[in-house]
Amino acid sequence: MTNLIPDSATNDVITAEEQHLAHNYHPLPVVISRGEGSWVTDVDGKRYLDLLSAYSALNFGHLHPAIVAVAQEQLGRLTLTSRAYHNDQLGSFAAALAALCGKDLVLPMNTGAEAVETAIKVARAWAYRVKGVAADQASIIVADGNFHGRTTTIVGFSDDPSARDGFGPFAPGFAHVPFGDAAAIEAAIDDNTAAVLIEPVQGEAGVVIPPEGYLAAVREICTRRGVLFIADEIQSGLGRVGHTFACDREGVVPDVYVLGKALGGGILPLSAVVADREILGVIRPGEHGSTFGGNPLAAAVGLRVVEMLETGEFQKRALALGEHLEAKLADLVGHGVTTVRVAGLWAGVDIDPAVGTGREVAERLLARGVLVKDTHGQTIRIAPPLVVRATELDWAVEQLRVVLAA
Ligand code: PLP
Repeated sequence: MTNLIPDSATNDVITAEEQHLAHNYHPLPVVISRGEGSWVTDVDGKRYLDLLSAYSALNFGHLHPAIVAVAQEQLGRLTLTSRAYHNDQLGSFAAALAALCGKDLVLPMNTGAEAVETAIKVARAWAYRVKGVAADQASIIVADGNFHGRTTTIVGFSDDPSARDGFGPFAPGFAHVPFGDAAAIEAAIDDNTAAVLIEPVQGEAGVVIPPEGYLAAVREICTRRGVLFIADEIQSGLGRVGHTFACDREGVVPDVYVLGKALGGGILPLSAVVADREILGVIRPGEHGSTFGGNPLAAAVGLRVVEMLETGEFQKRALALGEHLEAKLADLVGHGVTTVRVAGLWAGVDIDPAVGTGREVAERLLARGVLVKDTHGQTIRIAPPLVVRATELDWAVEQLRVVLAA
């Protein structure tokens, strides 16, 4: 049906999508055909500054030359073996990622949700085989407002009705506590508790940052009570908050890192669970896997991403640019913005309902060449590629100021 889609007719492309795509997203009305660094170009040649970065999967920007080069090289040699055999890329990727995390072992998967599912299985297996929890009794503590993906188990412990309603029955074995409340975690732990699973900064909830000391308290409680601390760093990790991991904001090391999004360099899906041998070593051959998980193309890209993070350059940029952005956004509070939350180069901006909804502001910014996306009605999330320039951020905030004043 491609003959229905003339290259430069944005409306026809959107109409074709509406006719033939399941309506599980509500995209902004722009059809992107090229990207480079922090900028994308639509089918009509109009350029936009990308302040969403594919929900932080594009931390290194579009088509980062070092990542593209390694992908192209690997595309010409070997792309897929399955884990039925070894491949010559996976070992060095796993070694580098384990070292970046300060852990022993890596379990590679593809999407974020798969990695979260993997972490849940690992935590349960650890509870039965190491901690001694009775069969099928293991429970995992999760936070209100969480977002960990879209599988049925994961949406079953979401408290967002649009993620959850109509998709039950759900898997049991999850207990909810308020996000940011360490005492509630302590109170919720019992003999069957396998793990606490949290996002160190909640992304989809609107860049919700827990009170200082929370992560350190969770670490201390989990250690003392013999419970695994699982940090879902799929959106918060890999440079976004000005550190390699959001847990680094409090100098905290979880038992299990769950990684995804930017690990694939904005090129392909690559996720991983990373932990020490006494935890991740509980999984035995045949108990878990994925046809594409650990494929040589993804491993080559993932290794390059880890090497780029090893220099600390992107983390430093995110920290400095984040401070710059925070100062600019602070000026908008009281002028169409009610609250701003900033962690590194990542901001949740709550729009005053008198000015419009988050969606309306995103549409007005789109018209001015700035891409953002709303979340939870009144919030827009700003997550530029970490390669963005300060002057570009200034320009984008100026567009936001104009939109809010209009
Ligand atoms: N966990 C967190 C914290 C996320 O932000 C997301 C996606 O937004 C996921 C898990 C799910 O990742 P994916 O969409 O790759 O399945």
